[in-house]
Parts: sequence; structure tokens; C-alpha cells
Amino acid sequence: MSTTTTTGGPATQAPAPTSLYVDGRWRAASDGGTREIRCPADGSLVATVSEATDDDVRDAIAAARRAFDDGEWRTWTAARRGALLRDVAARLRERTEEFARAESLDTGKRMVESRVDMGDIADCFEHFGTLAPHSAGRLVDAGDPMVLSRVQTEPVGVCGLISPWNYPLLQAAWKIAPALAAGCTFVLKPSELTPSTAILTMDLLTECGLPAGVANLVLGSGVTAGAPLAEDLRVDLVSFTGGLETGTKIAASAAATVKKVALELGGKNPNVVFADAAMDAALDNALNAAFVHSGQVCSAGARLVVEESIHDEFVDELVRRAQLIRMGGPFDEDAQTGPLISAAHRDKVHTYVRRGVEEGAVLRCGGEHAEDGDLKAGFFYPPTVLDGVRRGMSVVVDEAFGPVVTVETFTSEDEAVAIANDTTYGLAGAVWTQDAGKAQRVANRLRHGTIWINDFHPYLAQAEWGGYGRSGIGRELGEAGLAEYQETKHVYQNLDPQVTGWFAEQEEQA
Ligand code: NDP
Repeated sequence: MSTTTTTGGPATQAPAPTSLYVDGRWRAASDGGTREIRCPADGSLVATVSEATDDDVRDAIAAARRAFDDGEWRTWTAARRGALLRDVAARLRERTEEFARAESLDTGKRMVESRVDMGDIADCFEHFGTLAPHSAGRLVDAGDPMVLSRVQTEPVGVCGLISPWNYPLLQAAWKIAPALAAGCTFVLKPSELTPSTAILTMDLLTECGLPAGVANLVLGSGVTAGAPLAEDLRVDLVSFTGGLETGTKIAASAAATVKKVALELGGKNPNVVFADAAMDAALDNALNAAFVHSGQVCSAGARLVVEESIHDEFVDELVRRAQLIRMGGPFDEDAQTGPLISAAHRDKVHTYVRRGVEEGAVLRCGGEHAEDGDLKAGFFYPPTVLDGVRRGMSVVVDEAFGPVVTVETFTSEDEAVAIANDTTYGLAGAVWTQDAGKAQRVANRLRHGTIWINDFHPYLAQAEWGGYGRSGIGRELGEAGLAEYQETKHVYQNLDPQVTGWFAEQEEQA
């Protein structure tokens, strides 16, 4: 594989990059098209990669189809597939620095965060590698000892995997690992902004012995490289992580071919703090909830819902701490958070903030592009706190996907629940209280796919992840994350067939 330029060296006159991976071979785009990848922290050139055409995508789908229908992959046992995935996990752990560096250059996120992500990705491969040989199906009691009734699992087939830019390899791994564990083949389309770790992963899978055609990679825009995966009849399942608007389009085009659809969309996640919470931990986690990775996290705690009696004390301290957060690039050891992904995205975030202020929110800190020193070269936006918001304001309703937290207040448990559930999304939420009964009552009533009690953000590869409402369809991770990539087939075997006599009897009567 080649991308033409990597950071650290000057851009050179180079042959067309060959960064599409189709049928076990690296190749250039059929029309020679390319795209520059630039680091959002300083605009430096990271790489120049191939930009797929419709034809390239069709070739990749055809390769995945052949590998599924006729390739040696079909003969691999689940145990063998699981061993390959665990090997991927082990090798990824050995190459954490290389992968983390590539991820940080594409996204601008700090190396320390990318290293954590690589550990999580290895855990994901390990989890599905372990699960693979334990998901063959189950026996069903047919009520007759001479009948063997079993529900067996089989791979869905060819999968189109479309992933976003915020956690590029993590979100892709949540799809790649279960797809392979189940025995599927796939075409991956990462975000056009962040392809580098997907490129590295194709080589890693091949090194681990994955047969040609099982894993294919197309790079390029959503419309050219992504949309065909939802539309093509040869694709059996499309799994998408990204924004609500794109997810809706994908579901609509997938409907035309009646393929399976899995959607992991956005969130507008409440972080509910009762007056009896452990204050220091709640404050620290409220910052983490809203501002880690500059808020570009689907489960970001972007709605702080705080009990009225502690509002002033809590929010004053939150604002003080938010103003101390230091922004910087991937390799700045002092930085605590990085840039937004692009100028367009920073403008979108800023528009939400401005509109919030116009609608009556009180801007307590942030709210302007960061222009100091080195930050000017990147897409930095400071941690922003909007106090005094009301339900229904666009900044409360829509996902800004940036370092912006809104503050609402409540005076009763019922009101806290009502505010926290007042969203059409339903991805994640948290409740902070030292009253275990109250915590459980609130957790039970929140309509979100993940609830944290006295914590924010941790997730486990062994536990399902996904959303209620418009946060998506289906689940990733856990056991259900594997089931998404499996068909179930009921095989009913009569070990002692008998004449039923049903129609014979009717003939005699006639
Ligand atoms: P987008 O919806 O813009 O894009 C996601 C992916 O879809 C990209 O690869 C994109 O390609 C592709 N795409 C765009 N248009 C189409 C199309 N018409 N057909 C097929 N594919 C298309 O999301 P972002 O990349 O901006 O990611 C941010 C969003 O992801 C947020 O809303 C966030 O909440 C959500 N997200 C959800 C997670 C969850 O677990 N629920 C986790 C992480 C993020 P390209 O952009 O390259 O053109």
C-alpha cells in the first residue's frame, strides 16, 4: 500500500497512491483520484490517499461477495476465526504507538487519548475473538424425544461498514471484529477525513492470515464511496455510525433492497446531578463528560441537569475549571484537549452557540474561536458553558458535537427524569447521587441505552452499546453486537419419521 506523503517529511513528487484495498491487493483509484488528509491541529499534510470511484466500490463489493460465496473463508471454523481476531488484538497492542500516531495525526486528538483508544480496540477484537466459538446456536425442546430442533447461527453475508471521524478505528473495529467473528466479509468505508488507521488495519488483518477478499477498503466521500454500500443488492447488511441525517438516508436506501440495517447515531445526553452527589467527583466528571475530545463524542454529557439548590456553587466551579482546560495538538504534552475536526465543523458548533445566546442562554465561558499563538493554525474551540437554557432551544435539542455544555435545573426527582428524557435521542445518560435507591429509580426511568451511576463515559466491550429513539437501531459490542452479523436458522430434524395419515384419512372418507 502507499499513501504518497506521511508527516515528518516534505511532500514529494510521487506515483498515485494505492490505498484502496480490494480482493487482497492495494490499488489506486480507477480514475487516479486522490485526496489530501490534513491534521486539524495545524493543517499540516498527513497523507495523500486514493479517492474511490463508483467502479472501485462495485469492485470491492464484488470481491467481498466472491469471498463470501466461494472463498476458503467459508471453510474456517468459528474457533479459527476467533483465534485470528485474538491475534489481531495482540499485534495491535504491540503496535499501539504506530496506530495511535496515525489516529492522532488524522483527528488532531492527543496521543494519550489515541493510546487509550488503541487499547479499547484491542479489547474489542479480543472480546469478539473469544465470543466467536461460543455462538453456534442452541437446542430447542420440541416436546418429542425423536425430534432434534436446533437454532443455528450463520453469517449474514457481505457487510457494508461505514464509520465516522471522531473515533475512526474504534468505531470501525466495533463493526469489523463482530463481522469477522460471525464469518461475514465486508467493505469498509471510513470517514474521508480520517482513513489512516483503516489503511493500517487492512495490512494487519492480512498479516494475521485473513484470506483475500474478506476485508476490503474503499476511501472517499460518503456520496460516492458510502452510498453504494447501502444501495447495492449484493450487500446483505449495512452498519453505519454517524449523524442522524446521514443515518436516515442510509436506512431509506437500504429499504429498497430490504437489507439488514444497523445504525449508531448521535445523542444529546443528560448528566443529572442531585444535591447529595459527591461534589468533587461530580464536577470533575461533568468536565470530562462534556469536554473530552472537545465534545466530539456521541455520548458526550452535553446537557448538565443540576438540582437547583446547588446550581450556583456547581456551575461557578465548573466554569472556573473549564476555563483552565488547555488546548493543543497531538504531541503537546501539556494539552488537555485537541481541535475540532474541520473548519466547517467548528463553524457549525459556533452557530449553535450563537443561536443559543440569541435565544436567551447565558454564555458563561468560551463561545469564540481560539486564536492564540499556535492554536490559530488549527480548528480549536474552547470549552463553552451555556447557562440558563430552556428545553426546546436548538442548542439543547440538537447535537452540536463540540465542547459545549448547557445547564438546566430541577427541583424534584420527577422533574429531573422528565428533563433527562426530553430528547428524541436516547444514547446515554448519567445520574449523580449518594442515595443508592434514588440512583436506581432514576436509572430505571431514563430512556437511554447506557446509564452511568456516579460515573461518565466508561463502557465495556462485553456490554451492549446503542441507543433508544433516534440514537439508532440495533446494538454494538456485548453479545448482541455479534448477533447483528448473524442470521439464525431453525433446523427441525425428525429422527423417526411417521406417516401422518392426515390426507389418507380424508381420501378414505371420500
Ligand atoms: P456523518 O454522518 O457525516 O458521516 C459518517 C460516515 O458516513 C462517513 O464515513 C461519511 O462519509 C459517510 N456518509 C456521508 N454521507 C453518506 C451517504 N449519503 N451514504 C453513505 N455514507 C455516507 O457523521 P460524522 O462523520 O460527522 O460523525 C459524527 C456523528 O457520528 C455524530 O452525529 C455522532 O454522534 C455520531 N457517532 C455516533 C456514535 C454512536 O456510537 N452512536 C459513535 C460515534 C459517532 P464522509 O464524511 O467521508 O463523506
